Amino acid sequence: MIKISIDLGLCQGYGNCVSADPEIFDLNDSGFAFLHVEEVPDDRLSTLRDAAAVCPVEAIRVEPDADGGQR
Ligand code: SF4
Repeated sequence: MIKISIDLGLCQGYGNCVSADPEIFDLNDSGFAFLHVEEVPDDRLSTLRDAAAVCPVEAIRVEPDADGGQR
């Protein structure tokens, strides 16, 4: 599984992540990002990396093999 996290100390609410993957990222009523899910299957890695790459403040962390790489 891939673990995702958002550093809300960095997030400026640009919403680029939501555009990149609306099934995972969303904006709350205050305009900051939150996650619909915090762990997703490995086949989402490239989409998640794209979402992390379009965040202007690099607030998105994507950690592959969050389960220790055991399959
Ligand atoms: S792209 Fe980055 S700054 Fe913008 S809402 Fe997403 S996490 Fe926040």
